[in-house]
Amino acid sequence: MRYSIPIYWRNKNSYYSIEITKCRKCGKVAFFRRSICPFCSSREVEVIKSRGVGRVVSFTINYFRGDTNLEGYPRIIALIELNEGIKIVGELSDVKPEEVREGIEVEAVLRRYSSDDPYGLIYYGLKFIPRIKP
Ligand SMILES: [Zn+2]
Repeated sequence: MRYSIPIYWRNKNSYYSIEITKCRKCGKVAFFRRSICPFCSSREVEVIKSRGVGRVVSFTINYFRGDTNLEGYPRIIALIELNEGIKIVGELSDVKPEEVREGIEVEAVLRRYSSDDPYGLIYYGLKFIPRIKP
């Protein structure tokens, strides 16, 4: 990735949590964090953190292996509908491609994205894993 540490640190909230805008006027939610409701233009919004639990709506398996990203091959990219009512795109982890199907319940966890080199910065972020029911 080759980000500088200060830039990565400034953006850490978007890497480590899912922030949603909830409108106090119309009650709708929107992803990502905003200061104005995209539905009714109200400024009476609050930022809530998603629990990161939802279901896979659709997915694709990416077999492209670029020069800079040699980890996590192949990658499973999914459209996920969170319980808060928004849809986001995320990467699935800890699951084999043949085990993924539409409708499985997933939850967000912190996982390693990549690293610059063996002694460089390690990048972490949110990925989704199949949810284990209690
Ligand atoms: Zn609104």
